[in-house]
Amino acid sequence: MVLSPRLVLVVNSGSSSLKFTVLGAEGGAPLVSGVAECLGLAEARIVFKANGAKTIVDLERNDHTGALQAIFARLDADGLLSRVGVVGHRVVHGAERFSESAVITPEILAEIEACSPLAPLHNPANLIGIRAALEALPSVPQVAVFDTAFHQTMPRAAAFYAVPMSWYRDHGVRRYGFHGTSHRYVSAEAVRFLGLPADDHGLVVAHLGNGASATAILNGRSVDTTMGMTPLEGLVMGTRSGDVDVGAVTHVARLTGLDIAAIEKVLNKDSGLLGLSELSNDCRTLEAAADEGHAGAILALEVFVHRLARHIGGLATSLPRLDAIVFTGGIGENSARIRAMTARHLAVFGLVLDESANSTCIGGRIGRISRGPGPAMAVVPTDEEGLIAADAARLTGLVDADETVRRAI
Ligand code: AMP
Repeated sequence: MVLSPRLVLVVNSGSSSLKFTVLGAEGGAPLVSGVAECLGLAEARIVFKANGAKTIVDLERNDHTGALQAIFARLDADGLLSRVGVVGHRVVHGAERFSESAVITPEILAEIEACSPLAPLHNPANLIGIRAALEALPSVPQVAVFDTAFHQTMPRAAAFYAVPMSWYRDHGVRRYGFHGTSHRYVSAEAVRFLGLPADDHGLVVAHLGNGASATAILNGRSVDTTMGMTPLEGLVMGTRSGDVDVGAVTHVARLTGLDIAAIEKVLNKDSGLLGLSELSNDCRTLEAAADEGHAGAILALEVFVHRLARHIGGLATSLPRLDAIVFTGGIGENSARIRAMTARHLAVFGLVLDESANSTCIGGRIGRISRGPGPAMAVVPTDEEGLIAADAARLTGLVDADETVRRAI
């Protein structure tokens, strides 16, 4: 039997790690996935996951190319490599240049590179993964899927900071938004699940994981979002501060002499749930500690929820009508407690939590967790890899446009 080359390899290349997933072009569960960790260090290794089993392989060559070579060797041994028809890459920043996914050509590569000053930690790492994949699989088409693209529909009023316009003209300073792939996938799934009309709905999607952002979506288009020029703005995150008065930051810099790089590190790595609780960035750990009366954990969860509810309320003002609030991400999909706390803050919208549905809607289950005539609350598991694979397959003709539109958009 000849198997058709209808697999998609999805690559998410970070500075010191590279995640991958192999999926059927028509969707479905991953055939194999994994993550290469500690790249650049002697202990670099890959964890492969397939059929519920994990295997760990030490990397002989400890860079991104070495990681991809090891991944390809494994796929080859599993008889999957020759069936990979396209590679889909997650790219963090597409600035104003990319409002949708793009088949990678030398020109597109140059444009992604031109976006790098806006995401100096992320885009160069994404590009390393793309170049390594192009080198290893030169005859397989590759597609870039951007975190920012979905938010390019934001109106100017939502996109601009009230700073001198020369900052925008000279340095690209404006709000771009991130997690676009998740917001796009989850909003489409929510519309389908809740039976809302595709061309007449208003949603707020809260993607709550280690990174967190919420987006107002009007008829399938992003009209406002909480992350800004970088993924630092907005909600409280695992280790990122989210919104903070810039005056507080300059005050601390003046008093302590911390330079810009040190301040950036504090706000990105030492703040958020971790900074508030002085215990952990992990919501599960904080919930357990809060149950034991840990004051820092209790405060961290309260600030997290307060900020989230305040942003959801603000985002709703970009919509003519709020049909539903949709939770996703590790916390959104699993923490009945955070959802219940948020629902209490949102009583002003006429939301009524269905306690029993809320407590059972965990572990990747889709469901409605509200009752009554007010806006719905729902939980919809995200699938960023699935949407990257769907875009990659559609743009390279691996599947019919209609098929992927039905599935993912
Ligand atoms: P993500 O970045 O989407 O993988 O989400 C990671 C976050 O989800 C961490 O803060 C985890 O503690 C949180 N999380 C995962 N499972 C649960 C759970 N059962 N209850 C509360 N938080 C959870």
